[in-house]
Amino acid sequence: MKYELPELPYANDALEPAISARTIEFHYGKHEKAYIDNLNRLIKGTEFEDMELEDIIAKADGALFNNASQAWNHIFYFFTFAPDGASEPKGELRKAIDRDFGGFDNFKQAFVDAGVGLFGSGWVWLSHDEQGKLFITQGKNAENPIRDGLTPILTFDVWEHAYYLDYQNRRADALNQLWNIVDWEVVESRYK
Ligand code: MN
Repeated sequence: MKYELPELPYANDALEPAISARTIEFHYGKHEKAYIDNLNRLIKGTEFEDMELEDIIAKADGALFNNASQAWNHIFYFFTFAPDGASEPKGELRKAIDRDFGGFDNFKQAFVDAGVGLFGSGWVWLSHDEQGKLFITQGKNAENPIRDGLTPILTFDVWEHAYYLDYQNRRADALNQLWNIVDWEVVESRYK
């Protein structure tokens, strides 16, 4: 199976000012495209060639894991955003956030703190276990909570390539701006 770069469901400038068109062009159009190209090159002629991407992430190591996970992580990240999405979680997810983090504002603070506190490159994740309990975790480089048996529902990319064009060294500002473009209906749809 050959992986393709999916077309984003919004225009490149639709997420401004949180994420600029220029960042989308580089981050999605070049960085993510490179991960997908590398993934296709690395699986060709191997046991991974016809495997689902989540299974490659669960089983592969080294360069194949890194490129498979980065390919998945960026699609998951960019498809969470919408210019006019739901600004707050509702329903069962809202109840779980209130229960596990003591409220939506506390959750957002803890999530950004975990992203800012990650040294170097990686991702901050919101995931749930089989009982629906929520966890905020840090993943270095390409790490994905699927490897730990958790189901991810939200991630912020904290690699410098995600924000440096727009925010330079101000990672906290970059992450806090993302709350303006997260579509919580998308996140809720992942909480099953
Ligand atoms: Mn990235």
